[in-house]
Amino acid sequence: MPVRRIGVFGGTFDPPHLGHLVAASEAAFRCMLDEVVFVPTGDPWQKQHLNVTEAAVRLGMTRLAVASDPLFRVSTCDIDREGPTYAVDTVADVRAEYDGEVDLYFIIGADSLANLHTWHRVEELCKAVRFIALNRPGHSRSEVDTSFGVEVEFIDMPAVDVSSTECRQRVRNGQPIRYLVTDSVGSYIREHGLYRG
Ligand code: ATP
Repeated sequence: MPVRRIGVFGGTFDPPHLGHLVAASEAAFRCMLDEVVFVPTGDPWQKQHLNVTEAAVRLGMTRLAVASDPLFRVSTCDIDREGPTYAVDTVADVRAEYDGEVDLYFIIGADSLANLHTWHRVEELCKAVRFIALNRPGHSRSEVDTSFGVEVEFIDMPAVDVSSTECRQRVRNGQPIRYLVTDSVGSYIREHGLYRG
């Protein structure tokens, strides 16, 4: 069986928006990925000070967001694992979800790579994956410390200048988020009364 090329796309997805979908799609296209696995975070240690929506709700929205693309799927591994979410555990768990050999590609906004050297067990992580870093509009491309042998491919994507923070704020202000999130995610947010403050 040929080695499958799998993208691992972790995020808070609070909510998932079109920037996430375009990023995953562009990464898949440019790096010839066979599948992209969206992994909603459990307990986001870097955002502990923020009010993050319950994992089951973010998982529900992420499933809705990816449902129409056969290239995309969702893994619950970070939500199922106890304790804080570390990328090194995420990739080990995703790898274990496959029979046979896979090459893993860790998809990330280039802005999020700035403090890569501080990540938990980063050397182990860098041996396990290659990074696909998407240049994100409005965010400067960070200098990545490559001294520990990290492989990073930077990719330009069509600019989709939206963030989850902006989506939440817009809902709170009564502004539309139509076309910033999928219709299915928009309906879910409305029906569950999310982000109203
Ligand atoms: P928040 O505004 O709550 O911080 P976010 O919009 O950055 O959230 P996350 O779920 O934290 O969304 O992001 C998951 C990953 O997707 C990160 O690697 C982030 O850099 C990337 N990402 C988010 N939005 C975009 C976008 N518009 N274009 C490209 N990459 C994005």
